[in-house]
Amino acid sequence: MVKSVCIICEKEKDGEPLVNDYMLRFIRKIKQTLGVARNNQLVVCNDCFANHRKKREKFEKTIVQYVALGAISVVLLLVLFMRWESVIFSLLIIVFMLSLALLSYHPATKLG
Ligand SMILES: [Zn+2]
Repeated sequence: MVKSVCIICEKEKDGEPLVNDYMLRFIRKIKQTLGVARNNQLVVCNDCFANHRKKREKFEKTIVQYVALGAISVVLLLVLFMRWESVIFSLLIIVFMLSLALLSYHPATKLG
């Protein structure tokens, strides 16, 4: 039987299931590769929902900032230094921003 575990308090509780988005599938894939996947049904329980909303909103704000910063840096780099090095540097910035986004990732539930 699949256990349902709250991602905030990490207790076995019923709650609102997470949306299985790209990021969640990606994280699961990494865990499976590392052999640490627990294959639980991940939920947010009622007691933790307010807390979850705060974390999710923070992540949504952060991701907008990262995308904006990344886009501005890449455009500036490409416009100011029109050389192949700036293309490579832009790719590094994008990878860096993606890793930051991954670190601050907080999943969504169907209720938000
Ligand atoms: Zn909880």
